[in-house]
Amino acid sequence: MFLSDLVSGFVFGTACLCCMRTSKFLDPWLCEDCRRELMVLGKEPVPVNEDVICLFPMTPLTRRLIHALKYRAIPGLAYYLIRHSSLGNKGEAFDCIREWGERPLFLPVPIHAARFRERGYNQTDKIASAMAMVCNGSVRKELVRNSFHGSQTALSVREREMNVAGVFRCKPRGTFSPAQLRIIVDDVYTTGATTASCAYALAGAGAEHIKTCALIYEKPFSARNDYVADLSTEWLE
Ligand SMILES: [Zn+2]
Repeated sequence: MFLSDLVSGFVFGTACLCCMRTSKFLDPWLCEDCRRELMVLGKEPVPVNEDVICLFPMTPLTRRLIHALKYRAIPGLAYYLIRHSSLGNKGEAFDCIREWGERPLFLPVPIHAARFRERGYNQTDKIASAMAMVCNGSVRKELVRNSFHGSQTALSVREREMNVAGVFRCKPRGTFSPAQLRIIVDDVYTTGATTASCAYALAGAGAEHIKTCALIYEKPFSARNDYVADLSTEWLE
C-alpha cells in the first residue's frame, strides 16, 4: 500500500480507525478484522464489583476508539461501541442491569465546562443515551460538576485531600424518586474515584439505589493520568 493511499484514506474516511488500513468494507469506522476483534472484546463485560460493570477492557483497539470518541469529534462511536457490547447484544451486561432494576436512570458524569466548550459535547452523555436506548431506560442529568473560585471554596481541606466530596453535586430536577435505580455512566473506569465521588453526591441527595456502568475498564496500574485530570476541580480565575 502506498503512503498516499493511507493519507487519503485517513482524510477522506476510508481508513480503519484502529489499524489505519484502507478498506472498502468499513462500517464506517472499522475494517472487518478490527470489528471482529471488538465484538469478541465486547462479549464478556468486566465485573468490577457487584455495583460496577464495565463493557470492554482497555486494549489498543478500545483505546483508539475512546480517543476518537473524545478527541476526534466522532460522537457516533458511543452508540457503535454500545451496539457491539454485551449490553447491545442483550448479553451478560444486559442481564446484569435488568437484575439491578427496572426503568434505570442513566446519569452521565459531567465533564469540565472548558472541555465541553472545546469538544462541543460530553462523550458520557452520548454513552448514556446509547445505554438508555438499549435498556429501555432514560438519561437524567442530575450530576453537576462543581466549579470553585479559589477564594470561595466550600471544601474542607480533608474533603479535598480525600477527593471524594465536593467535585460533583446532585441537581434534582422535577420529581426526585430516591428508590429509582440510578446508573452512573463514565467512559473509562480506573480506580473508581470519579464515580465514587458521583455516588457520594447522589447518596447525599437521598438516592438509595446507585450503580455504575462504564464503557471501558482500565487497570489502575496501567492507567494514564487522565483520570487525575478528569477528577480535578475546575478553578475559576
Ligand atoms: Zn482495522
